[in-house]
Amino acid sequence: MDDETAGRSVEKPDNALAAAHAILERAPLFDGHNDLPWVIRIDKAARGDVVAYGLNRVHEGADTDIPRLRKGMIGAQFWAAFQPTKASHPAVTTLEQIDLIRRIEEAHPEVFLPARRPSDYARAKALGKIASFIAVEGGVGLENALSPLRIWHAAGVRLMTLCHNETLDWVDSATDAPRAGGLNAFGRAVIGELNRLGIVIDLAHASHDAMRRVLDVTEAPVALSHSNAYSLCDHPRNAPDDVLGRLRENGGLVMATFVPGFVSQPLRDWLRRSRDGYGKAPLATDPKAQFAELEAKHGTAPKASLEQVADHLERLVEAAGVDHVGIGSDYFGGASPVGLEDVSRFPHLFAELVRRGFSDRDLEKMSSFNALRVLREVEKIGKSLRKSRPPAIGRLEDYPGG
Ligand SMILES: [Zn+2]
Repeated sequence: MDDETAGRSVEKPDNALAAAHAILERAPLFDGHNDLPWVIRIDKAARGDVVAYGLNRVHEGADTDIPRLRKGMIGAQFWAAFQPTKASHPAVTTLEQIDLIRRIEEAHPEVFLPARRPSDYARAKALGKIASFIAVEGGVGLENALSPLRIWHAAGVRLMTLCHNETLDWVDSATDAPRAGGLNAFGRAVIGELNRLGIVIDLAHASHDAMRRVLDVTEAPVALSHSNAYSLCDHPRNAPDDVLGRLRENGGLVMATFVPGFVSQPLRDWLRRSRDGYGKAPLATDPKAQFAELEAKHGTAPKASLEQVADHLERLVEAAGVDHVGIGSDYFGGASPVGLEDVSRFPHLFAELVRRGFSDRDLEKMSSFNALRVLREVEKIGKSLRKSRPPAIGRLEDYPGG
């Protein structure tokens, strides 16, 4: 806690922050979602060159770099191989982003341990490294075929967010018109193959009905890698109570996210004027300029805060149970809540949860134990399914009907 007094920073003693540090020392954070690979891709100077980007230095104005990952006590990270749904050449773009994550690992072998199994978390911790896990954000790169799933798995992918902000031919997005009845026959084949491969199914970005349809058919626990409680902030990206309740039986996990518009109801209401009916912003060439224009017209936007993220975590624990909650920041080089400006701030969120009376044990679950349990279970189920089920092949057109 920094207090600016007469131009100097005074560190106040804070027992909660010391307790948070001790918890994260024992159970370094497993963060469910970070968009650094996309940030490096679109950085005007680096243009996808990891070495040129320079992760060893603090990037003021961005939110993720090695010095601040260390300060934030990160033990494992799911890096998103993300692309906008409408990007050209989606299959290649997904491979480029997976490759970019692997280049992050290769450029900094003293910091990142390429993590392909849940047991790599402990291995990384023992070596003082960060376990680097690969996620694909958005199934658009499948181009409606099943085979790429196995190639992604071979390349190290261990979690797949089914879609992004737009509905695909086989799964409905939370922020777009439904076309697939939630999840259609080809979508169910995708789910079955993800189960068989031991890749975590991520329901963040899926519509509420798609979440329900996946929970109906999945043979393994699922994750919502960056979503909050819909009952506290009614953005469609957040999870409704019935879905959160079903995570208990499924064994899955919801990871609270910091995206301001999914955290704060007043901000969500303020932003409605610039969003479509599904809560999605029209693609802007300069989102910062667009936001400034809105503020000039409608006054200062309400801010999301660290305390509101803690409110969501409390609500998620109420609805899903403490064994089914984690954190998926979704730092993406853009806006973040006051108090959670960059990846160094995680201990402050845990300090707030300590102040709210969460036990050390419960906070260790939320920090990493729950995410590791889901990964272990998904790996185990995949191994057993591969013994009895052949690889699923084919394309969308081979799966007619709903
Ligand atoms: Zn996302």
